[in-house]
Amino acid sequence: MTTAEIVVGAASGCEVDWHSLDWAKIHQTVKRLQMRIAKATREGRYGRVKSLQWILTHSFSGRALAVKRVTENQGKKTPGVDKVVWDTPELKAEAVMSLKRRGYKPQPLRRVFIPKANGKMRPLGIPTMKDRAMQAMYLQALEPVSETKADPNSYGFRPMRASRDAAEQCFTALARKKRSALWVLDADISGCFDNINHDWLSNNIPMDKVTLKKWLKSGFKWNGQLFDTEAGTPQGGIISPTLANMTLDGMEDALKKRFGVKNSSEANRNKVNLIRYADDFVITGTTKEVLEEAKELMVEFLKDRGLTLSEEKTKIVHIEEGFDFLGWNVRKYDGKLLIKPAKKNVQTFLRKVRGIIKESKTVKQENLVRKLNPVIRGWANYHQNQVAKEIFSKVDHVIWKQLWQWACRRHPNKSAAWVRSKYFMRDGLRNWVFGTTAEDDKGEKKVVKLVIASDTPIKRHVKIKGAANPYDPEFETYFEERLGLTMKESFKGRNRLLYLWYAQDGLCPNCGEKITKDTGWNIHHILPKAQGGEDKMTNLEILHPNCHRQVHSREKKLVTGSGQTGL
Ligand SMILES: [Zn+2]
Repeated sequence: MTTAEIVVGAASGCEVDWHSLDWAKIHQTVKRLQMRIAKATREGRYGRVKSLQWILTHSFSGRALAVKRVTENQGKKTPGVDKVVWDTPELKAEAVMSLKRRGYKPQPLRRVFIPKANGKMRPLGIPTMKDRAMQAMYLQALEPVSETKADPNSYGFRPMRASRDAAEQCFTALARKKRSALWVLDADISGCFDNINHDWLSNNIPMDKVTLKKWLKSGFKWNGQLFDTEAGTPQGGIISPTLANMTLDGMEDALKKRFGVKNSSEANRNKVNLIRYADDFVITGTTKEVLEEAKELMVEFLKDRGLTLSEEKTKIVHIEEGFDFLGWNVRKYDGKLLIKPAKKNVQTFLRKVRGIIKESKTVKQENLVRKLNPVIRGWANYHQNQVAKEIFSKVDHVIWKQLWQWACRRHPNKSAAWVRSKYFMRDGLRNWVFGTTAEDDKGEKKVVKLVIASDTPIKRHVKIKGAANPYDPEFETYFEERLGLTMKESFKGRNRLLYLWYAQDGLCPNCGEKITKDTGWNIHHILPKAQGGEDKMTNLEILHPNCHRQVHSREKKLVTGSGQTGL
């Protein structure tokens, strides 16, 4: 065909050595094909899209990268119905060779139930490792299309976008004193993921139909019993959010057709803006009537796709009344728009904290702190771009009270002063910090103290450009600049890391790919410490965690002489 089909590292059928794969080349091959798929999509050449997708999903690079992805993400230790995990280099290598379209038969999902915020249980379907990897592989070929055709104001489950971008767009659409829309349609699709019409998906999703149909019909397994799936996207699958997004893409165009394209006088009159995060969306409008009309339009749009709006949960509200969206409350107070953590979100968070404290009655203090800190930090970070200072302080106070009770209950016969000196310490200007000194895993004494939510600085977030597309070369510098800003945040207070990251142009020296918050990183000593390598900057680099393992595995082979380097 073309030069695109470069077989890297190994030819099909041959043995693959996971740690000797050339990831820089693999990433490059996949990325180059993806850019071409996106270009063909922009040009409307769908025959070409299809043939490029075929090449990608049958290439060695595509398969290897898919295996890498599912063996590095959070679920890597969770097996499906076949109880298989790929946790050694040998199994990963075998897996690469097993990803074939011909004869592929997905296994049913393993169904588990996880607790929801309201105490009820939510069903979750878990595919096998192989099915996850197949989905990851087809997603590589689908995402350049979905990103090119996506609604500009869709922010959920898309690369380089997050809920904070959606919040910022709410601000853009609603904050102005006189010229912003005053009404909001707060919409809720009934069970979106479970109800999307299968025929609609097969007819409209630009990917291999045979494989897609197999996933849609694969069913799920619970308590040893097999259930069929008649509608919905394959749950728990890597590709599902993209399928759902693609089902809903086009909403923005439908609204523009009816209410005017950007900057037209019609658009300025109606002030209709869509802000969507996966299946959760709001539409703004000048009047209630405009939004009644928009709602009708959306009902029609969704009907084709097998979806309906929930009558009880969908409502039209005035902005002074406000609405909840993605865990925030968006509301104008005397004409001033404030986005704050939503009441429900705060309650859910505090319930979680209380649960942890409750189940830790006999746990050591340092272990309780280690359990609470990621929860508090994660929650505070989620809200750090909004008006959250006041709520942070309140939350800190509630947690403090619970910890005081936790401490007192452990020592019913001791005085308050005794309990205070045992569990609370002075930290800078603060007197009542829940903390202690404890040994870390290296046996060194360290202060372990509770994270304080109100220490999180509140910062304005700069929203991603609606049209930004990671598969379009035009946006390459744009994304690099954004990444630089987020990494500055991530490395806050760790200047050495930031220095290394910039010195390496943000790239991993092993695979040539970007090091981001999502990929994670390890610090690597170029000359190993065991061989006299120092902690100096000139002897350090940062690598992806997987690349770091790969580098060490190569070093080991060099030392033991078992490698194929010929040395
Ligand atoms: Zn790397």
